[in-house]
Amino acid sequence: MSIYIFHEWPQPDELAQQLGNDKQAEIVVVTEKWPESLTARSSAGQNIAQLWLEAKVFWQQQPVFSYPFGDAGKFTLIQPQVYEQWCQFNPNMVSTTPEYSKFIYKPWLTLPTPIPVKSVVIIGAGIAGASTAFALAKRGIAVTVIEQHSIASAASGNHLGLLYAKISAHATIQTELLLASYGYSRALLKNCLPAGKGWLDCGVIHLDYNATEKQRNTLLAQQNPHSTLFQTVTKAEAEQIAGIDVPNGGLWWPYGAAINPFSLTEALLRHPLISVLTATKANTISRQNDLWQIDCQNQQKSFYLDASHIVICAGAESNSLYPVAGWPLHKIRGQTTTASLRSGATQIKCALSGNSYITPPWQHKLCFGATFHPNQTNDDLSVADEHFNWEQLRQWLPHLAANLNPNTSPQGHAAIRCDAFDHLPVVGPVGDTAAMLVQYAQLRLDKNYPVTQPCPWQPGIFVNTAHGSRGLVTAPLCAEAIAATMLGLPSPLSVRLQQALHPNRLPIRSLTHHQSFRLST
Ligand SMILES: Cc1cc2nc3c(=O)[nH]c(=O)nc-3n(C[C@H](O)[C@H](O)[C@H](O)COP(=O)(O)OP(=O)(O)OC[C@H]3O[C@@H](n4cnc5c(N)ncnc54)[C@H](O)[C@@H]3O)c2cc1C
Repeated sequence: MSIYIFHEWPQPDELAQQLGNDKQAEIVVVTEKWPESLTARSSAGQNIAQLWLEAKVFWQQQPVFSYPFGDAGKFTLIQPQVYEQWCQFNPNMVSTTPEYSKFIYKPWLTLPTPIPVKSVVIIGAGIAGASTAFALAKRGIAVTVIEQHSIASAASGNHLGLLYAKISAHATIQTELLLASYGYSRALLKNCLPAGKGWLDCGVIHLDYNATEKQRNTLLAQQNPHSTLFQTVTKAEAEQIAGIDVPNGGLWWPYGAAINPFSLTEALLRHPLISVLTATKANTISRQNDLWQIDCQNQQKSFYLDASHIVICAGAESNSLYPVAGWPLHKIRGQTTTASLRSGATQIKCALSGNSYITPPWQHKLCFGATFHPNQTNDDLSVADEHFNWEQLRQWLPHLAANLNPNTSPQGHAAIRCDAFDHLPVVGPVGDTAAMLVQYAQLRLDKNYPVTQPCPWQPGIFVNTAHGSRGLVTAPLCAEAIAATMLGLPSPLSVRLQQALHPNRLPIRSLTHHQSFRLST
């Protein structure tokens, strides 16, 4: 795999010539502006020009923006003002310079020097585990995925979930993550699955369901850079798009989609370099002779797997495993409901989002909900949650609710979401908690104390979790970031994002907030 860096936009033909047949190349363009015109004469050049036009729709002045192409390639746009900083966070791009410390003032939020990748084990086969396995496999790394139940059976087990970016009207870190991830997931989905086979290319309307949402949607609609990504629609326009009565106008996201997460997970895990062990639980992780040893259990036997690298993608159970055992993550129970349309009833043509969401039918079932119960850990379908989802739908879209066949018992899926204190995913390399708590103990007295000691890392341990209610959007790009860090390749995330998502923020916050920490091995 090669990396090509351009400081001005290459013409598609010129790039096609350089790339030849390398469909795994990483192309980096350092640029402030989208090019006025791109000309291509060869078909390879035209393919690249087409890809750039498609990516332009999702490119929203992000400091760093990545888009997949070819078999395993990726192209990344970087704004010049963050290029130097980005290089310093991407170890293989330039050697470390004296300015390094100017940017990386929190050693626990840096990245470890990559160590040789001999064998990788991923724990958990939800969307986070599958996309991490895929991101590594497409770069030629063989991966073993361990799943205690079956693939996409926990939080990633919904009939349909929405892919769109519920962003704020301000340039928050969440907005940057969601916009960058939305474009990435959408392109990945299109590359992996034909439309209709596991996902609906139906678009999403985010309705003005209360005064706050109306204000947010209005502010967003005024922001010109986003105009190709979504448009404001009146109630009448929304009804025309959706094909049913709706209570308000809102924002129309034409590239939004409804995804069956199982189908996407399965497609990602189909890569020949990925082996999946289902009905296999990772009980403990320990360090033996410079390798990690995972004590596994299936129905027949206990056995060990050795790994130079482990990525913990265990969703709500991530913090039951050493070396992140006891880390402060929150569990939030949620249930969606599925139902079919009465025969002859008007079809709903796009997904709708408001206080809850509803999708058009896939395999004859619409999906709506979801409930939200912090600190509840029971994942059985509940009658109370089923009633709640129906009641919400009756109040929100009464005509549609009346056109659905009632269920005689709860239908749908219940699962536990995993969330962090700041509602951002937890993504990246993991420090040695016990050593960090000692080394950075001064932060307990003064959270701004200038600590300079390098971070004590757990060599080769990564985590990709806490995707909350947006894992279909955020997990695939975060998986790319993990593969890049592990292999010393350019990250698709800006430095600001890498630091905001860094796993070590959790134990260090416990330190600065004087929260007790139960370390277990
Ligand atoms: C009701 C509901 C509605 C949602 N709607 C949307 C939506 O519309 N759009 C959206 O983007 N997101 C939505 N989400 C969120 C999204 O589904 C999650 O963020 C995402 O599925 C999380 O994926 P994951 O891989 O991190 O976790 P999971 O899918 O939970 O996967 C973790 C896996 O790890 C396995 N595991 C755990 N411990 C071990 C162990 N020790 N050994 C082996 N395996 C282990 C588990 O069995 C599980 O399969 C929704 C979530 C819920 C619950």
